[in-house]
Amino acid sequence: MRIDVVTIFPDYLAPLALSLPGKAQQRGLLDLHVHDLRDHTYDRHRTVDDTPYGGGAGMVMRPEPWGEALDGLLAAGASGDAPADTPRLLVPTPSGRPFAQADAQRLAREPWLAFACGRYEGIDQRVVDWASERMPVEEVSLGDFVLNGGEVAALAVIEAVIRLLPGFMGNPESLAEESHGSDGLLEYPVYTKPALWRDHEVPPILLSGDHGRIAAWRREQALERTAQRRPDLLAADDD
Ligand code: SAM
Repeated sequence: MRIDVVTIFPDYLAPLALSLPGKAQQRGLLDLHVHDLRDHTYDRHRTVDDTPYGGGAGMVMRPEPWGEALDGLLAAGASGDAPADTPRLLVPTPSGRPFAQADAQRLAREPWLAFACGRYEGIDQRVVDWASERMPVEEVSLGDFVLNGGEVAALAVIEAVIRLLPGFMGNPESLAEESHGSDGLLEYPVYTKPALWRDHEVPPILLSGDHGRIAAWRREQALERTAQRRPDLLAADDD
């Protein structure tokens, strides 16, 4: 999978060189391109923002640098340097559609994703409008809170997507039973050695070796946890 990220803070994406994402890049599973939006500015201060039309606090990202950055992606697609004609563009924003595991699964099947990381009060809306006429665009939210910029959101979405790529996980079985998986439940509590730690015991059933009873206990725990913490997930299951 190819992933492009456009940002004014390319260093924010440095963690993708670590751990499993780093290995995925070394093994050619992930082809990551990080672009500095300021490379598309031509004034001494490399300005990417300006005051909002209509007034109000804060600054808005100007459309011209974004237009050039996206032109670069389209050119890569047209020249055959990329795995598709256009990327699917993801624009992190707190006013986007909430990102969920089903989106990660869907996006993991795409050959090429690009991320436009906003800062300040966000990106001039015409950038999304213009891009939507040329490539699939999704405005996605990480949750009902406000971050300083789109980089952390892009990192989170990228990690959720690439860990689903075939060959990414050392042991793909780790993906089989997770929260937000096919059963719609949160994961049951997990334990490891020692069996007794600071007067807290591992539930004895897990030491029984009885796989049928362990599976039943885990399902019960998952149901209980979901009912307590995320009853909305159980309600969604009934729809
Ligand atoms: N004025 C914007 C609003 O109220 O919707 C918030 C802008 S925020 C300070 C700057 C940037 O952070 C956004 O353009 C977006 O890229 C990113 N961002 C902030 N919160 C986010 C969230 N919950 N999900 C995804 N991206 C977010």
